[in-house]
Amino acid sequence: PTSSPFLTPCATTTSNTLALISLKRDETIPALLHAPTPTDPSDPIANTRFGSYPHSTLLHLPWGTQVAASNVGARERKRGKKRKLAEVNNNPANASTTTAQEDETPAQEEPAFEAAASGFAHIVPPTPETWTASLPHRTQVVYTPDASYILQRIRARPGDKVIEAGAGSGSFTHAAVRCVFNGYPNSGDDEKVIRGRVYSFEYHEPRFQALQNEIKEHGLDGVVTVQHADVYAQGFSGAQDVTAIFLDLPAPWMAMSHLTRGGPTQGGPLHSDRPVCICSFSPCIEQAQRAAAKLRELGWVDVGMAAVQQRRIEVRRERIGLMEEGLRGVTAVPATVGEALGRLRELEGKTAVFNAKRKKNDKRDKGAINGHTTEMDVDARSGTVGDGAVNGHHENGEDMMSKKGLPSGSKQQRLKNNLEAAKARKLYKEGRLTHRTEPELKTHTSYLVFGMLPPEWTEEDETKAVAESLAFE
Ligand code: SAM
Repeated sequence: PTSSPFLTPCATTTSNTLALISLKRDETIPALLHAPTPTDPSDPIANTRFGSYPHSTLLHLPWGTQVAASNVGARERKRGKKRKLAEVNNNPANASTTTAQEDETPAQEEPAFEAAASGFAHIVPPTPETWTASLPHRTQVVYTPDASYILQRIRARPGDKVIEAGAGSGSFTHAAVRCVFNGYPNSGDDEKVIRGRVYSFEYHEPRFQALQNEIKEHGLDGVVTVQHADVYAQGFSGAQDVTAIFLDLPAPWMAMSHLTRGGPTQGGPLHSDRPVCICSFSPCIEQAQRAAAKLRELGWVDVGMAAVQQRRIEVRRERIGLMEEGLRGVTAVPATVGEALGRLRELEGKTAVFNAKRKKNDKRDKGAINGHTTEMDVDARSGTVGDGAVNGHHENGEDMMSKKGLPSGSKQQRLKNNLEAAKARKLYKEGRLTHRTEPELKTHTSYLVFGMLPPEWTEEDETKAVAESLAFE
């Protein structure tokens, strides 16, 4: 098997390996990076709502690098425009006028192109966690809080063999494979021969195909075997010496009777003499009850249920009664610089809308007010007012704006002053400490039924136990 970035991560991004483009919290997209080669000179582009990222800009970077978006559309347009200019220049009839235009082009276009770059992203390495956050959903998936709890409870360790059914979108598969992987063969270290394995079963043909391709692309095919099978009818053929099982099926009890021990006399998938742990993941309590009943019927012990209720808790100070002086609608002094900036931007946004309206009206009345021209420049992004001609007078930036770029005497300036005063009073230490939970954390909450199949008590064990107790007496 080849190496996998999920199992043996390298320090930088490379061609033909998976990288994850993290745009913001809860928004990550996968990209299988491709470097242009003589046979395939293409430079694929990862298009996101925060800009475009040609693969060539993502290669050979240390993981975690922040990458600026390239406005490829603008670049292409620029190239197209240059080509057109060249064509016109080659036409002798147009030579004199077009040469002058071409000379101007770089100086005017370059800054516009830079400004048009619409965002940035971080390039992060593939891990089961980042993959779960970014994978293409073909089904409901098992999220990281559940997967990590389950793998710990079913005691999946390096070198172990695990059954997983149904495989669905492969989220749990990636978490399980990292748990059981214990090195590649031929690494010069006999201890590092792969013994760990995930036997994955999926009966939906397109999902099976998609997962098989992904496993191959991710270099995990030496450790994961994906099989296209209906485990209710066919059981877990091909699986051997399994000590941990995860079932994410609509009717798990229909698959449980196939979970029998292997060995010379029995042909089942489970290890012949080690304890075996199982987890069955069901979204409704009736399914969980039926699964638990079936496990008991089949001789599994320690049958119990758990549910993972992970919540992110936001802790903050709330100050009541500290009114912001002279600011309508603002009730409390901001707690953090971030909060203060948020409010500032909100106000700036409102100012921008107000100014834009005013500019529209002014344009309509242009030249008609007291014989003066009225015009204002608005920077739509920052909401600040730029220099221009107001009521016939040209005012420079210093006159119209405070040092920090805010209109002097404006609400923003007063808020800024208040913030500075609040900072001096150490307001972040005042107020009552409160917390609230974040309800919409992505996790598909289900009931987790656990059980354990103890090693079988053999004739040999019985004889040994009797002999030991006699010796003790
Ligand atoms: N655990 C998966 C993950 O983390 O991505 C999601 C599993 S999804 C909820 C359940 C899967 O079980 C579906 O893809 C479905 O096709 C598969 N399935 C249902 N019955 C099955 C059966 N009898 N044999 C094999 N797979 C089955």
